[in-house]
Amino acid sequence: MAIPTHVKYLIIGAGIHGLSTAYHLAQQLKAQRKGDGRDILIVDKSGIAAGASGIACGVIRNNYFQPAMRELMAHSVSVWETDPEGYSYHPVGYMQISPESMHADVATIARQQKDIGYESTFIEGEKESADYMKSLFHDWQAKGITSVLHEKRGGYANNTKAMYALASKAENEGVRILTGCTVTGFKSESAGGAIKAVETDKGEIGCDMVIIGAGPWAKIIWDMLELPKTISIKGKDGIMHDDIPMWIYWSLQEGTLGVDPELQKTNDGRFPPVIHVDSNAPLYSNYDGSLITDEMWGIYYKPDFHFGGIQGGAAPYAIETDPDEVAVDPYGVDSPDFVVGEDFAHMWVSALAHCQKRFEGQFDYYKNEPSGGIGSFTPDSFPVFDMFRENCYLIADSNHGYKMLGVGKLVAEEICGTQSSLLEPFRFSRYAEGKLHPVSSSPFPWS
Ligand SMILES: Cc1cc2nc3c(=O)[nH]c(=O)nc-3n(C[C@H](O)[C@H](O)[C@H](O)COP(=O)(O)OP(=O)(O)OC[C@H]3O[C@@H](n4cnc5c(N)ncnc54)[C@H](O)[C@@H]3O)c2cc1C
Repeated sequence: MAIPTHVKYLIIGAGIHGLSTAYHLAQQLKAQRKGDGRDILIVDKSGIAAGASGIACGVIRNNYFQPAMRELMAHSVSVWETDPEGYSYHPVGYMQISPESMHADVATIARQQKDIGYESTFIEGEKESADYMKSLFHDWQAKGITSVLHEKRGGYANNTKAMYALASKAENEGVRILTGCTVTGFKSESAGGAIKAVETDKGEIGCDMVIIGAGPWAKIIWDMLELPKTISIKGKDGIMHDDIPMWIYWSLQEGTLGVDPELQKTNDGRFPPVIHVDSNAPLYSNYDGSLITDEMWGIYYKPDFHFGGIQGGAAPYAIETDPDEVAVDPYGVDSPDFVVGEDFAHMWVSALAHCQKRFEGQFDYYKNEPSGGIGSFTPDSFPVFDMFRENCYLIADSNHGYKMLGVGKLVAEEICGTQSSLLEPFRFSRYAEGKLHPVSSSPFPWS
């Protein structure tokens, strides 16, 4: 495709957010007779689903401790439900299985899911939790579990299939997708003013508005926009905390046990909900019996034909390297620095066996191939959806985002003039104003 000299809307990134925004913006423009998909250009330095959206586990859930996250996720689930087949979405449900230290938090989530009409069952008590889990899986054996939240909606989607479907939907609306085109800078008439053009390695593209869905590259684009490297945050204590780095990186740990996905069916022969277990029971190696940890740990897993086995992950770890020095490229499985190693495999497969007897002695089936990837996280690990430099809409999901198919729809509505109350709690100004989201007792940074 020839590179255009000017477009109305230039979107950076052909991942879930860039594609979803393009598709929904095209529909909005047409509905409001303000234009159509031909006004929109997506540029991506690699290709469709080349970033985090193409390697994500694809889990779609509502279970969040923060009311604003829950409401946003409920909206996104309803967008996934509009075309399950097209989006390769498997609405098998999701289970949060927790120890006593998380009981009160999860009880709050269950109550608030009722309030927003999001269907779930909440089981409390050690015996009751074990009985409920055994009614689904006869071999359930995890210890120290005192609550189970079973969300009936949500599940997972096949990562790249959903992205290609979204790209087709956008292209059918007239959106152009230019791959192999890297954004290298921005042009404006005054320092810090509106963006007039985007500089790329293929030439300059003038634009009226820029929308950024750059996932793990969010910090790199942020720096190109000359936005602050550190920010001030008003804490819950009312005190201003200065010089907090705007971005840090975390490494996501995921892998696949290469057994037949049919191994993980429920007692009645169905494919099960996505399982997420947090536990503070000591975790022993299923390989040599050694103690892996006696601290809080967490895993998630699902049978997945796309990955060819039981696929899932464990809690990520924060990358200590100065964010300016972290190599985001080559990304994902091609990274020499950030793919999971033997420690992950040992812990995750042992944790599977801790939960269900059918996974005992299966260690040799772990797929010893690169997996996982990094994500760029904001200071509070929650998304920032906001306009910068007057005409630059940043969608930075702080790595929550594969499930957030609906965010692009809400962003498209905002661009067309309807502010969204669901996006409001995620403005950048929350840091200075101290309007922070509550923090849960989960071991994961995004719960
Ligand atoms: C291993 C892993 C597992 C995950 N699992 C889940 C999960 O189960 N559920 C969930 O909800 N979320 C999950 N996530 C998080 C989720 O994948 C991300 O939050 C989401 O995909 C980000 O989408 P995006 O569109 O912002 O970015 P991406 O999908 O990363 O897309 C960004 C695109 O921007 C392009 N780009 C970057 N810089 C430039 C530039 N300068 N010029 C042009 N193009 C550029 C890239 O090539 C890329 O294609 C996971 C993440 C990882 C890493």
